[in-house]
Amino acid sequence: MNRRSFFKTSAITIGAMQVGLFASADATPEINTVLGPIPAGNLGRTLMHEHVLVDFVGADMIVPGRYDAEEVFRIVLPHLKSVRALGCETLVECTPAYLGRDPGLLAQLSQASGLQIITNTGFYGAAGDKYVPRFAYSETAKEIAARWVHEFLDGIPPTGIRPGFIKIGVDAGPLSEINAQLVSAAALTHLQTGLVIAAHTGDGVAAMAQLSLLKKHAVPPSAFIWVHAQNEKNSSLHRRAADEGAWIEFDGISEVSLGQNVAWVVEMKQAGYLHRVLISQDAGWYHVGEKGGGSFRGYSLLFARFLPELRKAGLKESEVRTLIIENPRRALALRCVPTAKPQINTKTGKMNSVNGQKRELINAKNTPHTRSPH
Ligand SMILES: [Zn+2]
Repeated sequence: MNRRSFFKTSAITIGAMQVGLFASADATPEINTVLGPIPAGNLGRTLMHEHVLVDFVGADMIVPGRYDAEEVFRIVLPHLKSVRALGCETLVECTPAYLGRDPGLLAQLSQASGLQIITNTGFYGAAGDKYVPRFAYSETAKEIAARWVHEFLDGIPPTGIRPGFIKIGVDAGPLSEINAQLVSAAALTHLQTGLVIAAHTGDGVAAMAQLSLLKKHAVPPSAFIWVHAQNEKNSSLHRRAADEGAWIEFDGISEVSLGQNVAWVVEMKQAGYLHRVLISQDAGWYHVGEKGGGSFRGYSLLFARFLPELRKAGLKESEVRTLIIENPRRALALRCVPTAKPQINTKTGKMNSVNGQKRELINAKNTPHTRSPH
């Protein structure tokens, strides 16, 4: 499909003076990995929510040099290789900025393990806002979004590595002022970049509040991943959000929660929402400040134990494929958005044509990446 017909067949949504253009299902969108963009179809079996490294010291205290990147590389690489050997092809690394995001290290690990790794842009507002940088409090959502869009366009300094999704975090309950600010910034970033929004979410109330705020910004629920949906025990809220079109992510799969997670997936399947479910483990990670990174939870359980359990519970091979390949691809694929705001003809009320500049930006090659200094 050429660009002109691509844009013609794309859905156009107009709301609140904002115009977004979203790729049709048969387009061939791309996804940014730490080694550059890949066609979404090359994503393969994907772990949607894992961590390589986390530093919990807080936004005020975090500085480069708090860990030995070579030691982290040495400790994490065997875990990545193990899960790669089980058939995993992509790992989505969910550590945000000010919590230990290190794209240069991820690029080295990706190269050495053969696993595609995806990093993010955004700020994490959960955990009492300990990881929100101070400057964000005095900025508008638009100003915060400009920072994230800049990372998408020019790469995360000093590496040039581009994010593959937006990661934010909000606490349980109604959104605090700063949490709402981050959600609005994520909405504005999504509208300019097409990146999906993965939000660490305290509970169902916070999930619903985010969905309604996103809608005010004319962001479709399909651009929202409800991260840690397992935090909400009332599963009717999972179904309600899925019904609206959001992604429901059960990402706490561990040795002790295998059965519970099987039950959630089966419940969603029976309700007809398997095509909106994402699964992962929230495993890892090199814990900065602990000797040798502390105890590391590997990434293999989902492939070695959880998928076989799902098959035993009656999931067909095609349904396992939906969970582990197709849903991640559809969730992460860049939505196509115009660079220039389309002009509305005030006489006819119709939109003038939109150029395809953004497509070229998305296709632009990553600048060569270097290892970040810490
Ligand atoms: Zn996590």
